[in-house]
Amino acid sequence: MIMKKKKKDRRESRRRKPCPFCANLELDIDYKNIDLLKRFVNDRGKIVPRRNSGVCAKHQRAIAKEIKRARFLALIPYVVYTYR
Ligand SMILES: [Zn+2]
Repeated sequence: MIMKKKKKDRRESRRRKPCPFCANLELDIDYKNIDLLKRFVNDRGKIVPRRNSGVCAKHQRAIAKEIKRARFLALIPYVVYTYR
């Protein structure tokens, strides 16, 4: 018997989560707020793209700017070497 591929209904069921910064105005994007910024950096130290983090364009710009500022001040590393 041939198994038919299940139709992808992921697209419809998965609604885009609202941007955490738009939802919660208390969160301030700041280079000193390292714990927050680290959530938008992957394990290799790269900035997580918007399609993965679910942040809106406006706030993604702000985050990227602050991450770069934090990197310059050595609060966040530029690269994290992972040995495989
Ligand atoms: Zn936002």
